[in-house]
Amino acid sequence: MHTKPKKSLGQNFLIDRNIQDKIIDSVGLAQEDTVLEIGPGEGAITGLLCRDAGKVFAVEIDRSLCALLTNKFAKTQNLSVINADFLKFDLRSLPPGNKLKVIGNIPYYITSPIVEHLLLYRERVEVIYLTVQKEFAQRMAADPGSKAYGSFSCFVQYYTEPEILFLIKKNSFHPPPKVDSCFLRMKLRQEPAVKVKNETLLFKIIRTAFQQRRKTMKNGLEELIPNRQLEEFFRQYDIDPRIRAEDLSLQDFANLANLI
Ligand code: SAM
Repeated sequence: MHTKPKKSLGQNFLIDRNIQDKIIDSVGLAQEDTVLEIGPGEGAITGLLCRDAGKVFAVEIDRSLCALLTNKFAKTQNLSVINADFLKFDLRSLPPGNKLKVIGNIPYYITSPIVEHLLLYRERVEVIYLTVQKEFAQRMAADPGSKAYGSFSCFVQYYTEPEILFLIKKNSFHPPPKVDSCFLRMKLRQEPAVKVKNETLLFKIIRTAFQQRRKTMKNGLEELIPNRQLEEFFRQYDIDPRIRAEDLSLQDFANLANLI
């Protein structure tokens, strides 16, 4: 029995049992694990999470789905269903304990805000598993030089090690979304991927550089960084001044930020 999916809340329920099992197998939970599920929906994988983990917190914005879940899992003692907007949810309000394993099949229109919100609480998170539109997954995991590489890739890779685990065809969902999805793992790094003196400046440089994607770095960043310093950067790191943002690695951006 399915509730009528609400398009406005990005409700595309995962109905393919094989994929549900594949997700659970790749997460590989143990009794000492605490799981935070984002958007449990009708509980496609919630029961399996509760079977394998010690404790599961499931944050769902839709009040009627929370009622359905509370009813469906009335006898499941290690599940807490929380009716809240995840984007306003304070992860520090959860009881202290092990770092969280976060898992979610999340609406495509709030993918970036959800990732940003999670990374605000990174000290409480061990690993994040997300089902997202294929294009988003590719952006998060993209290497320099590829079409999908951009400021969001740099942001995500600064804090985590993203890896696409497998593709999920659109007909695995009800209703099927327009495009296929990917299941992605983002392991939180102990330390950021690169060392910088000023993180705010690093991300400002990255954002500015990619906003001006078509321009060379030199032209794109001229308002932010004096020419003299840019030239010094190109010379010191033996980089062609005609290079474009998509060809620079996170380490290159860090080197530039640290020169200023
Ligand atoms: N996990 C379920 C599954 O795989 O079948 C449902 C996935 S569905 C793509 C996304 C779920 O996130 C829906 O249940 C929706 O109501 C919920 N949701 C949407 N926006 C949310 C938000 N801001 N905070 C918490 N849950 C949200």
